Amino acid sequence: MSLLAITAAGSQDPASPFAGADICREAGLALPPGAARPVFDDDEWDFTHVVGLPVQMSLASRRFDFTAIRDPRWRLVAKELIVAMLAPRHEAVAPLPRAYRTPAHLRTAKLRLDELTRWLNWLPQQGIRSLGEVDEDCCAAWLMHRRHARDEDGTVIGDRSPAIRRAAAQVAIDLLNYRELFTADRPRQDLRPWGGASSSAVAEMPSGRQENKTPPVPGHVLQPLLAAALYAVTTLGPGAAELAAELRQAPTMRSRAPQQPGERAQQKDPLICFPPVLARHCQDLDPLPELTPSLVRKRLSNGWDPGDPLLTVNLDGLAREAEFWGFTSRWLPRLRPQIEAALAIAGVARPFGRSARTVPAASGKPMPWTIPLQRDEADGLIGVVRTAAIIVILAVSGMRSSEVMELQVGARQPLQESGAGMARYRIASNVIKGQPLGGTRDEWVVIEPVYQAVGLAEQLHDDPRDGALLFGRFAFYVRYQWFRDWVNGPAGQRLGLAPIPADPVTPRMLRRTLSIELAYRPGGLLAAKVHLKHISVATTEGYASRPGGAQAELLAEVNKHEADRNLELVWAEFRNYQQGIMPAGPGARELTEFFASIDGKPAADAPEAPRVQRSDREILNLLTRRASTLHLGTANYCWFTDPSRALCLKLAGTPAAGKPLAGMCDSARCPQATHHPCHRPVWAEAANQAKTFLGSLGPARRTEKARLQADYDRAKRVLTGIDAASGKNGAQQ
Ligand code: SF4
Repeated sequence: MSLLAITAAGSQDPASPFAGADICREAGLALPPGAARPVFDDDEWDFTHVVGLPVQMSLASRRFDFTAIRDPRWRLVAKELIVAMLAPRHEAVAPLPRAYRTPAHLRTAKLRLDELTRWLNWLPQQGIRSLGEVDEDCCAAWLMHRRHARDEDGTVIGDRSPAIRRAAAQVAIDLLNYRELFTADRPRQDLRPWGGASSSAVAEMPSGRQENKTPPVPGHVLQPLLAAALYAVTTLGPGAAELAAELRQAPTMRSRAPQQPGERAQQKDPLICFPPVLARHCQDLDPLPELTPSLVRKRLSNGWDPGDPLLTVNLDGLAREAEFWGFTSRWLPRLRPQIEAALAIAGVARPFGRSARTVPAASGKPMPWTIPLQRDEADGLIGVVRTAAIIVILAVSGMRSSEVMELQVGARQPLQESGAGMARYRIASNVIKGQPLGGTRDEWVVIEPVYQAVGLAEQLHDDPRDGALLFGRFAFYVRYQWFRDWVNGPAGQRLGLAPIPADPVTPRMLRRTLSIELAYRPGGLLAAKVHLKHISVATTEGYASRPGGAQAELLAEVNKHEADRNLELVWAEFRNYQQGIMPAGPGARELTEFFASIDGKPAADAPEAPRVQRSDREILNLLTRRASTLHLGTANYCWFTDPSRALCLKLAGTPAAGKPLAGMCDSARCPQATHHPCHRPVWAEAANQAKTFLGSLGPARRTEKARLQADYDRAKRVLTGIDAASGKNGAQQ
């Protein structure tokens, strides 16, 4: 019998169409064999073990607790609504005209349940006992209630986000859309809250046409943050891995095998077990473990003599070395003489990181990578280095935090060597966003530091079995605070790390920063979309149905950032010019004359011209105009003022093109190219490589030799030009 027939036939509440249903079976969710299966009639549904749930999904959001809804009738309503969202093809749900047709993700269903619980517990406070009493005013009052954040006294302290308003409106709309399904109570059929508007319209959601709300990480934060994270991964990483191994080997309460029920601990005599331990400390001059200051304070408050030599000795630590669970105070009188004797010989020190390897500090000065540490401090330091690895992966690979959480031990793929010194680094994980349950396996091509960070995280892992989660679920906000506190605290300052400002940083901000950086490059917009794996959305929006959508906005935003960046570069070169650091290359003379014209001084080799004193505004305008012609090459600046003079366009046979062809750039010959001191390392590297290859060629390979010799001569010429123009003597490389 159909649901509608049931409701029509019975004056009493009919049985729910889902009574006795296995929720996971109805929703098509897989469970491992033997796992408890939530049943519709239960008031708590536990989806903890559902196969394929994202690591990012917390345990709390995997448990659906309907007991939080006080009215048992409405509890049933909530259960019916949630199962209908999870199983839209159920025979009772499919005929409903306004029901969702796509199964909701468990996380979405949980968010709906949470909001529904709030609404159903709020209604009785308004004197409403049945959903049939809910009217438009009640819905408006609910929205107003959820619109504002309040303190404990109910005073409004601010506005909530549009997303919360939308969720609030959605619960009322959902109850209407599924009203025929509910067996215990249902809203009025003629109820039309907010005139039938959608929840997004009711909540005044931003349309999605504004600029991306996530700001990039500002440069003054990104620079010290990335520098510290890369330093921790590359320089401190090996020491951290050694410390992690030391921690794993150290005896702890947790490392002892638990006793079986009824099993008695083997009786051991401390007078027999302690002496060998103490003898080893004396023989190796290995200091006894020091007690943490908080426990020293506790001992003092318990009446220990402040002058007791054993006050700072960690007796529990010693006991664990002797394979006891801990130290019993009644042993102390008999063991004291031996421990004091060992203390006199070996001393006392923090137990971990005593033989820390020496590393160069950020300033270059060699020093141990860490001072000796207590166990909790050592655990904390490992956590800091692990956070540094997360930051490097997020910032440099552009992976979403959900994708980083899915990384497993063994995520690093074998290197793809494509020539001498050329390797492609890849890591594998799951894409979660927009993918079916379980995600979709994918690979990211990354640079070496990211590959190194993943490798380091494996070394720091307590149980690095293949397939174990590398980081698991992490709270970036909290981890980032710890990392920044460490960098800005005594440990970071000892290593000479630059302090990180207190501005907030989130994984999304890091991803956005990378996307802008990628999109700056020639062809970078496409590269950014491919690498960040949002190609399908942007392509669909930009090219198919919504010209001027997200892609155009991203492009406009990128162009703006590009213009700002170009202006900064032109300003920097103008200041260099004023300080006597001149550009080099075929276009240098033209650029120098331009700078001279706005500086009010004639260029050294320019014909005499009248001097013009310009205002700051005029200078800015002129520099901005010049900046709009600037294109960045790998080894030069390209001032694309006149396409007919562009060598690359001539070579390509497209002299009227509107943009230079960076891939065909020959900056040593093009009249629009300049070289600056920032390009020197590229040319020096090119000269070095040409020299190395020249040396390795046999006498028979004359053609290659001639070509390489020309490359070498050209690189040397450019280097000499840069050095001469910047006032150096050209003695370098
Ligand atoms: S050859 Fe190089 S410098 Fe000259 S226009 Fe082309 S890209 Fe610019």
